[in-house]
Amino acid sequence: MFMPADTSTTGPIDQSVHRKKAHVLVIEDSRTFSSLLCHRFEKEHGYNVTHCATTRAFHDACGDAARFDIAVVDLTLPDSPDGQVLDEVVAMGIPAIVFTADFNREMRERLVERGVADYVIKNNERAVDMVIAAVDRILANRNVRVLVVDDLLSARQMLTELLRLQQFQVFEASTGSEAMEMLITHPGIELVVTDYNMPDMDGYELTRRIRRAHGSDRVRIIGISSSADRLLSASFLKAGANDFVYRPFVVEELQCRIGHNVETLSQLRQLRLAAFSDYLTGLRNRRHFFDEGPAKVARCLEQGQACSMAMLDIDHFKKLNDTYGHEIGDRVLKAVGTKLQALTEDTDYLLARLGGEEFGLLLTGLDSSAASQFCEAIRKSIADLKVALDDNDISVTASIGVAEVGGLENFSNYLNAADQFLYLAKHYGRNRVYSDSMLIEATAAK
Ligand code: GH3
Ligand code: MG
Ligand code: MG
Repeated sequence: MFMPADTSTTGPIDQSVHRKKAHVLVIEDSRTFSSLLCHRFEKEHGYNVTHCATTRAFHDACGDAARFDIAVVDLTLPDSPDGQVLDEVVAMGIPAIVFTADFNREMRERLVERGVADYVIKNNERAVDMVIAAVDRILANRNVRVLVVDDLLSARQMLTELLRLQQFQVFEASTGSEAMEMLITHPGIELVVTDYNMPDMDGYELTRRIRRAHGSDRVRIIGISSSADRLLSASFLKAGANDFVYRPFVVEELQCRIGHNVETLSQLRQLRLAAFSDYLTGLRNRRHFFDEGPAKVARCLEQGQACSMAMLDIDHFKKLNDTYGHEIGDRVLKAVGTKLQALTEDTDYLLARLGGEEFGLLLTGLDSSAASQFCEAIRKSIADLKVALDDNDISVTASIGVAEVGGLENFSNYLNAADQFLYLAKHYGRNRVYSDSMLIEATAAK
């Protein structure tokens, strides 16, 4: 049952994720560019930003022992006419993105030699967007694991250096079998850059073996070779690689190809997440519940563990919508979702919004009476929850039905059983938990 509550209580639950803010150094004397960059880094991306318009200001900023995660560096400053400040930034080990108006072939060679992470030319209206995208990409690379496979040490080192400049976490293997072992010991590896000619198995064979274990939605493969055989790239791609580069390669081309593959992985990850998430609450959705649930139940049964299904439904939610409007109803759903998430955070339980104001909980390891106890704590937490409106707070209650899993059945049967006990919880007055064990007790007492 929902009801207005007193206004002295806490506001809605903060759903923001606390992450360490990246610290971006902007070395730029143009007021227009620097204010645009600083504003967008701070406001749109939540980064900490330090701006220096001169080399001197940069030296002062370093004196504060500030740790910069990345720097955007203008090549020409009044007191650094030829990119001297860039050399200092690079020497300090700060990944640098050069942002420059002057650009030619000779300068490009020098930038590549100097070891910059990327460069963006100020010659079009998208230049600022491109710098920001480069910063995001390079910061994100810090979480991406790449495996370099090459039997030739010098070739491997060259690639490794290039990838480390891009801030990737780099692993190395000198043979195909070593690469296969690495993929097992480091399951987080998402990109493999492999040579063709290797002593134990060639790049095609390695690619085929990787593909047997990992689809290209999880692990990307880029072939690389100095062979003059033009068929090589086609054969690599046919074996399951995503891309191919001939040696000697143009650094920017390889960077872009790697960047595109990493971006594809990230887009696929987002798609997977969206397909299994509930848009409103951010919880897992019904599809995920039905995808993951059966295997979880099977594991419990195999291990002789108890397992219970709970179904939670907010009481008189339609009336709440009618009284306060759909938008407030949505806020209540989000608050309940956040509470449920917090209450199940460190558990192996499966939680999902099944639809409307209904939530499902698969409580692994809990028999009916333990599950009822757990659900009773949930019921109480929800009843104590306050959702802040402008002039007052509102509370809701929820009813929960609990049924222990007896044996292997169709997964939806477990949910139907919990739904029947939910019906009884509603019938006996709402804001309560009703379970199969309670029904047995009640019947025995008669
Ligand atoms: P009971 O106590 O018996 O559960 O009654 P109830 O009113 O909660 O249940 P009923 O099934 O009659 O109404 C559920 C309401 O939930 C109707 C529907 O409009 C509303 N609803 C479903 N999905 C959403 C949503 O995403 N946002 C909002 N605001 N309301 C929703
Ligand atoms: Mg309801
Ligand atoms: Mg309902």
